[in-house]
Amino acid sequence: MAVKKRARKKASKKKRMTTAVKKKAAKKKAQRKAQKKSHKVRLKTRPLSQRSRGLRELREGIPRLATGNNSDLNEAIPTAKVYQQTTGDVKAVMVFVEFPDVRHDRTVEEACSIITGDATDWYRIESCGRLRFEVMPHGDWQMMPKKTTAYGNIQSDADAHREYISTALSLFPTGSINYDDYHIAYVVAAKTPEAPEVLFNSPTLSAGIEVPTNNGTVRHAVTFGRDSYERGYHVLLHETGHLFGLPDLYLFNSTDWLEPVGAWDIMCDLDLGQHFLGWQKYKLGWLDESQLFYVKSGEVSLRLAPFESAEGVKMILLPSESESRVYVVEIAQPLGMNQEYRDKGILVYTVDAAVETGKRPVSVMSGLDESPSANETKKYGALCVAYLAPGETQTFGLSDGRKIEISNEKQFGSGFQVRARQFATTRTMRRTRAIA
Ligand SMILES: [Zn+2]
Repeated sequence: MAVKKRARKKASKKKRMTTAVKKKAAKKKAQRKAQKKSHKVRLKTRPLSQRSRGLRELREGIPRLATGNNSDLNEAIPTAKVYQQTTGDVKAVMVFVEFPDVRHDRTVEEACSIITGDATDWYRIESCGRLRFEVMPHGDWQMMPKKTTAYGNIQSDADAHREYISTALSLFPTGSINYDDYHIAYVVAAKTPEAPEVLFNSPTLSAGIEVPTNNGTVRHAVTFGRDSYERGYHVLLHETGHLFGLPDLYLFNSTDWLEPVGAWDIMCDLDLGQHFLGWQKYKLGWLDESQLFYVKSGEVSLRLAPFESAEGVKMILLPSESESRVYVVEIAQPLGMNQEYRDKGILVYTVDAAVETGKRPVSVMSGLDESPSANETKKYGALCVAYLAPGETQTFGLSDGRKIEISNEKQFGSGFQVRARQFATTRTMRRTRAIA
């Protein structure tokens, strides 16, 4: 009886085991299938340097761009150390001041919400999780000692601006705050009326200027004026971009001031811009060199991956005739309030580290002969069609006689197969733009 029972027990155990083994085998098979599938996906998006010997040989280290006599606020990499770090935890304190002639018209919570908006999330996504940015509002509205008109020159006079920030930050009792605990100080002014025209915009105090307070020293500061209430949190993104070492990409002395880059970068058009260009992300340490492909000579054809994906090559770089300038090819990032203008094609632009802020350090080169409709311009900016759609090719002539030819060969979802080549020719430059 005991034997039988044991035998039965054994048999049932065997049966159970068989079922378990079968289940396990099926699970393993499914896992293998899934792995195979994900491996395939990985292969598609992995940097080409890792899978093709030929392409790896083509790839070269990215050279440092010459800055000439330019100031530290330039497009060179690495960024001068005087600027605020752009990865890890960055904490900003936000204080609020009013004036005998202009009192606050909302709570500090309301003002903070308008000015900060979605900045924390924007930095998290744009930096691929590398920057954890936090704004901490402090205290209630504090009264400045003078009328707004006494601060009319802070936009143009750095000493006056420094004095303004120092006065504002020192209005708080020493026991309530220590400015050494923060990387950045934001000083928000009560919303001024249209006239007299004071504190109407939001200047950044140049990085590295030390601001003494009654409790600690501030090295990175922005004054928020009237425009920050009207233009939303992109004012903060743009001004903080300066604290991070990014120059202005719009033109200082031109009526066509958005013409170099349009809405493709917030440092050019903070109202319609939604992102930073790939070069800026790389400069800020939000992309690795392994995600870039520098083609020193010859030709390359590779698949560019969108910035939203964690893997893949994001940009192709090519040398120009100057040691200070490179050509950059990347996917045109989404535009529009809801990022609805997307998956259009690739952008080609130049970056020049020797060109001063506000004088065109970055210039979009692709598709400039295309004109958007009035509606497109209003929603996405004047340069919104300056991309190369699938099937389009454009050639750029360099002053040394060489040419760079960029082709958007094919679209793959949100990615594009791109061919980039440079060649010397004596033929007359011919610009081609095939029909998509
Ligand atoms: Zn600016």
